[in-house]
Amino acid sequence: MKSENPIVVVTGAGSGIGRASCIKLAQNGAKIVAVDFNRTTGEETLALIREHGGEGIFVQADVSKNEDVERYVQLAVEEYGRIDAFFNNAGVIQKFSMLTDIDVTEYDRIMDVNVKGVFLGLKHVLKVMEKQGYGSIINTSSTAGVRAEHSLAAYAASKHAVIGLTKAASLEYVRKGIRVNAICPGGVDTTLAQSVPMMLQESGYMPEEFPNMRIGRFADPSEVAEMVVFLTSNKSSYMTGSIIVVDGGLTL
Ligand code: ADP
Repeated sequence: MKSENPIVVVTGAGSGIGRASCIKLAQNGAKIVAVDFNRTTGEETLALIREHGGEGIFVQADVSKNEDVERYVQLAVEEYGRIDAFFNNAGVIQKFSMLTDIDVTEYDRIMDVNVKGVFLGLKHVLKVMEKQGYGSIINTSSTAGVRAEHSLAAYAASKHAVIGLTKAASLEYVRKGIRVNAICPGGVDTTLAQSVPMMLQESGYMPEEFPNMRIGRFADPSEVAEMVVFLTSNKSSYMTGSIIVVDGGLTL
């Protein structure tokens, strides 16, 4: 990180962990390029960034489309001249169901957003960071990226793939001054997680840790955002290729 006011690109900025991270980064002086598919929630996040004393722009983009990713990266560089950190976070959850019941179209959608979206973000942002000679990237995986989750085969496969991309990118770019890490949240109190108990009930499978969670509650998105801020900053300067579980003990 070169500056007191880092330029950070955040995808999936319209909600949950993405939004909470935008707010915390703004409080820490970052300038933010907030990216989301959803214009309404994305613009709300931009307003929250400004309320918290930060500045930024919003770009409406679908992270699974190459031309959209090229566009948000280009807009970030046009606006601020560089990208210090990148929170590669947008993702979708699948409908809970046994593997044999997963629609092929749904499988494709999960892979398109969660894997291809992360790949495209890496591909285009790494080019910018390679020219700069520095940068920090955080990919959002999941506890489903380090172990199986029942009734979530496609999601688990996609989040395991995020770990693979994280390690590969970290290995290839470590000598170019770029760090790439992944976070693995467990149950986070977002719209996505709130729908989990209901979806689990529908699927007929209710493991003990849901909805109780080992720590007794879901995480507030801001508790995951703390880790994101740390990983964007120089405080994490010796960390790359790390897979960091922030799950309240879920995977114990
Ligand atoms: P989390 O618990 O990981 O924070 P959310 O569902 O709350 O999950 O947030 C995910 C964000 O990612 C949402 O704001 C959603 O609009 C965004 N998103 C989902 N798919 C795409 C996509 N294809 N392109 C850009 N943003 C997306």
